[in-house]
Amino acid sequence: MSKRILVTGGAGFLGSHLCERLLSEGHDVICLDNLFTGQKKNIVHLLNNPYFEFVRHDVTFPFYTEVDLIYNMACPASPVHYQHDPVQTTKTSVHGAINVLGLAKRTKAKIFQASTSEVYGDPEVHPQSESYWGKVNPIGIRSCYDEGKRCAETLFFDYHRQHKVRIKVGRIFNTYGPRMHPNDGRVVSNFIVQALRGKDITIYGTGNQTRSFCYVDDLIEGISRFVNYDDEFVGPVNLGNPVEFSMLELANNVIRLTGSRSKIVFQPLPSDDPKQRQPNISLAKQHLNWEPKINLESGLVKTISYFDELLKEMKTNGKELP
Ligand code: NAD
Ligand code: UDP
Repeated sequence: MSKRILVTGGAGFLGSHLCERLLSEGHDVICLDNLFTGQKKNIVHLLNNPYFEFVRHDVTFPFYTEVDLIYNMACPASPVHYQHDPVQTTKTSVHGAINVLGLAKRTKAKIFQASTSEVYGDPEVHPQSESYWGKVNPIGIRSCYDEGKRCAETLFFDYHRQHKVRIKVGRIFNTYGPRMHPNDGRVVSNFIVQALRGKDITIYGTGNQTRSFCYVDDLIEGISRFVNYDDEFVGPVNLGNPVEFSMLELANNVIRLTGSRSKIVFQPLPSDDPKQRQPNISLAKQHLNWEPKINLESGLVKTISYFDELLKEMKTNGKELP
């Protein structure tokens, strides 16, 4: 049945893929975004669709509409961007959660929260299961994001217990793919853009720190199965690809797949940078029968081809990156 769905952060990387998926399923989609890290370019192809509306709005301010389902994706996700205005980052997670939960309470909408593996911080347990409470620095440079997202989870569970709001909390692990911003600062987009431009590949620290990278299509499928599954299963549930790589391995893969002559250079490791990260996805497998299908190599090939096109287009339009 067609639903009226609000996607906050809908003009961002993940949000735009989600809006596309929901429209293809025949839903009526309201995309709300303040375009802080999102771009109209990500949704321009949707603007002529009569079932798609874009609203420029900041989630830290209340928003009134009538909806059946909410996906709360609004929040800058790259360390460079969430550290640019850390107070606004916390407000986006916390005030944003209060506003969308209030909306869900009034409209009786089901609501999905885009939480994150960052709630585990620099984990002492490996791989990370949902039962692990995490090791997070409350006063560091990543705290605005990590603690903001933790507090948002608290709010979701309290609205669920206290007001019976139907919640779905997904903990998303590093996801990559087309429509990441070329200046986003996250490792996959940085390495690909650097390799395609023949610039040095910047590894922070030794490059032995690990992450597990999920291709965007797999993630969107996981979110969709979770939200459409039994309302009693509220999460939190890990959504990510459990295959772990070091940043050195990632850099070498990107160099090989782009055929680039870029050199690897080492730069200081930012503080509180987690040493390792890998999701335990047993819960998602068991309940949602979901696991990622796209391996790093094929996901990187698709993402490289996206950035290759984008950089050529930017060059033609005289909008080259600095
Ligand atoms: P993104 O930066 O591309 O998208 C975030 C979107 O939210 C942008 O369009 C931005 O303009 C918008 N936004 C930011 N602050 C806002 C505000 N105050 N009001 C309205 N809109 C606002 O990042 P993404 O990778 O698409 O991440 C989407 C969500 O998923 C985020 O909540 C992020 O924390 C979460 N997440 C992403 C990953 C990942 O690897 N991509 C991992 C874990 C969690
Ligand atoms: N990183 C890197 N070079 C870059 C960007 C990031 O070596 O140009 C490292 C970063 O220090 C971290 C890992 O890559 O260890 C993943 O960084 P990202 O910002 O993508 O995500 P997060 O740290 O939030 O998982």
